[in-house]
Order: sequence, then C-alpha cells, then structure tokens
Amino acid sequence: MKYPTKQAFRPAWDDYFMSMAYMAAERSTCDRLRSGAILVKDKRVIGSGYNGSPPKMEHCDDVGHLMHEGHCIRTLHAEENTLLQAARLGTSTNGSTIYSIYSPCYHCLKKLIAGGVKRIVAAHVYRDTRVSDACVEAGVMYDRYTPNGEWLDYLVELYKILPREKTSEVKSSDTGEKNYESE
Ligand SMILES: [Zn+2]
Ligand SMILES: [Zn+2]
Repeated sequence: MKYPTKQAFRPAWDDYFMSMAYMAAERSTCDRLRSGAILVKDKRVIGSGYNGSPPKMEHCDDVGHLMHEGHCIRTLHAEENTLLQAARLGTSTNGSTIYSIYSPCYHCLKKLIAGGVKRIVAAHVYRDTRVSDACVEAGVMYDRYTPNGEWLDYLVELYKILPREKTSEVKSSDTGEKNYESE
C-alpha cells in the first residue's frame, strides 16, 4: 500500500516553534517550573533550552532544590539556556525571537533584551506582569501564543502515523504490529 506523500497538516511558524519549546521543557530538571524555550532567527532555530543545572552539575530532581530567598537557584532558566547555547555555538542572538512556554521572569527578560531578542512569544503568563510594560519600554514585541487546536490534535497522532514517506506497509502476522519497508 502506498502512503500519500502530501502531508496532512503544515503548522504555522508559531505553532511549529512553540511545539519545539514544549518538547524542550520535557528535559527540565527542576519541578518548581518545567519550562522550555526555542530561540529563532530568520525562521531558523539558533538555540534551545530548558530549566536545568549547568553541564556536569547536579540536578534538583536528583538532589533537591538549592533555595535562596524563596527561589531555587540551582538551575539556569530556559531563556538563559537558549541564549547560552547560541553563545556556545557562536551564533548572534541579535534580532532573534524566543518561543517560551512561560513569559520570562524579570531577570531573564533583561538578558533577552541585552541579547538583542526582538520578539517574545509566550504561551502562559508567569507571575511577573511587569514584563509586558518592560517590553514596551525596550521596544521588544511581546505576543501571547494561542494554541491551534487542529495542530494539537495532529501532534497527538504524529508519532503513530510516522513514517509517512513513500513506504509500503507489511503486516506482521504473528505480532500484529505494523512494519514498514522502503520501496
Ligand atoms: Zn530546583
Ligand atoms: Zn527566568
């Protein structure tokens, strides 16, 4: 049986990048906030990040939080890690857009502004509502992300329907599982 090669759903850019941010968040290691972010420039990913400890350092999920004045300071925030990943790879963040599950805390916002991020897209507002005023002051676009229900429904099914390239399906009689062979 031949599978149709035309894709069933082509996400808009915001849906595409925000779903990557949700994937990144699944790598978080501090349960006080499991967030993820993707840094994009000219419609290309230049950094990804999640709330987690710096490389080689212990994780909150393993050893508990490191509290200071009511905040866990063990982790870098997702926004910081996206900037640092771009820095580590030698990519300019000037003029970039960040897609983040939560709006940035004020500390991260300052770093995003200083790093030249020009647009922030957040799915949820996290605590500090002064962030939107600060964005106006700094000339940064601040957009709330509205999930596309059709895309979300499609995402749920995505792993079940792949691979979708030109394949022929062979049904295994003993396991009932589907195997795919390239033509
Ligand atoms: Zn923690
Ligand atoms: Zn932050």
